[in-house]
Order: sequence, then C-alpha cells, then structure tokens
Amino acid sequence: GHEKALLVQLTRYGLGQFLVVTRDVTQVEKLETTRKDFVANVSHELRTPLTVLSGFLETLHDMPDESLSDEQRQRYLAMMLEQAQRMQAIVEDLLTLSTLESSPSAEGRPVRLSAIIHNTLQQGRVLSNGQHVFIENIDDTLCVDGIETELASAVSNLLTNAIRYTPKDGTITVSWYVTEQGHACYSVQDTGIGIAAQDIPRLTERFYRVDRGRSRATGGTGLGLAITKHVAMRHNAELSIHSRFGAGSLFSVIFPPTRVSKAD
Ligand code: ADP
Repeated sequence: GHEKALLVQLTRYGLGQFLVVTRDVTQVEKLETTRKDFVANVSHELRTPLTVLSGFLETLHDMPDESLSDEQRQRYLAMMLEQAQRMQAIVEDLLTLSTLESSPSAEGRPVRLSAIIHNTLQQGRVLSNGQHVFIENIDDTLCVDGIETELASAVSNLLTNAIRYTPKDGTITVSWYVTEQGHACYSVQDTGIGIAAQDIPRLTERFYRVDRGRSRATGGTGLGLAITKHVAMRHNAELSIHSRFGAGSLFSVIFPPTRVSKAD
C-alpha cells in the first residue's frame, strides 16, 4: 500500500520512470552479485583439489624413478585419483543442477519409489558405514508422477547424507507412505549429528556446508541438497527439514496428492 501510494505520488511529479529504473538496476545488481558469488564458489571448490593434484604431479615429475618405492608410487597415485574424482563429482553435480534449472517442470509417468529405494540400498550405490538402516513403512504400490532418474537422485542424496552425518552405531530409518491428506512422503530419519536451527535455512544453498572439513572428508560436494530441492520443486513437492543439533535429523520430500497414484 505504502509503496503504491509513493509510486502514485512520484508519477504525479513525473518521477515514476526514475523509480522504476532504480528498481531494475537493483534487481540486475542482485543477479550479478549472485552470479559472481557462484563463480567465486565454483572456482574455490575446484582450486583446492587441483592444487593438491598438481602438487603430487610435480613431486612425481621431479623425483628420480629409483628413489620412489612401488608402495609410495601407489599411495601418490591413489591420492591423485581421489582429487580427480572429487573434481569430477563437483562438475557432474553442477551439470545436473543446471539441467534441472533450465528445463520445465517434470511431467513424467508414475514411478514406484519403493523400487528405487530398494535398488539404491541393495546395489550398494549407497553403502551404510556401520549404521543400522531400517526400511520401514514402505508402500510398494505407491507411485508418484515424475522422472525416475531425478527421483532416484533425491532418494540417494538424502540417504547418503544420513549415512555421512550419522556415527557408526546410529540408526537410519527410511519410509515411503501416503499421508491421511493423500500426500506421498519419502523420508529419511537419522540419529546423527543434527543441525543447529540457524543453519537449516541455508542447507539447500549451493556449496553451503555446516562443517566443510567433514563434508569434504566424506566425499560431499555441497550440492546434494541443492539438487534435491530442485528435484522436489520440479515435482511440485516440498523438501522439509527438521533437525535437532546433536540428536538427529528428519528430511522429507512431500508430493502433492495430484501426483500420487497406486499400482496394482
Ligand atoms: P554435502 O555434499 O556437503 O553433504 P549437501 O548439499 O548434501 O552437501 O548438504 C549440505 C550440508 O547439510 C552438509 O554439508 C551438512 O552440513 C548438512 N547435512 C545434510 N544432511 C545432513 C544430515 N542428515 N545430518 C546432519 N547434517 C546434514
């Protein structure tokens, strides 16, 4: 109301155009800042493994062959491979994100999420690290309209995180069920390290991590939740996050009734 009144007043004095222009510039500047931040972040994320990798290469290059044991060589190569794989993971996640952002919402066909959950866990694409994984309350007939590969990445991202941020003796509970209101809900609950309230709203930002060191050490790219949020948005679903620091977290993707169906 206030703004509108001001606009009317300014227009009356022939200042309307001025106001609009100022606003546009602010918008453009904001976009530009976001873009700059993003480029800076990507550069930083890639620079670290790249520096380590070229350091090893230099050492190997400068070292006479005979002064290097087979064991040492193997160790160097393994560390170099790790850095290369890290860069690969970042680039792949970035490409996934940009595809998700540039294409319209996901129509797709009915997908049985229980099959994806079982595949993800059984084929070892997501490996528990000693935590007990309970597959509980899984509705095998429940389907959601969508794109299978995208849904699979949301399924595995939340599972991978639960494993990453839960100590070895913790428990992880996976569910896929229909709520009383007819929503379909995929949820992953863990008894892990949890997240402080002030960090929760920032988790889906690209490259945001509560603990950079821990995320790196476990092979995280810092893009998993950004991807998951985009997949959710493209399926008109909501990514909901509940957590208590030091106690554990509950991540859910909740799909609207319009996308839900039952297979026989
Ligand atoms: P990453 O590759 O670092 O795991 P994500 O985008 O998947 O990136 O997650 C962002 C951050 O959110 C993580 O670095 C971590 O700090 C926090 N996080 C995600 N899942 C959990 C969880 N289940 N428990 C505690 N913290 C989590």
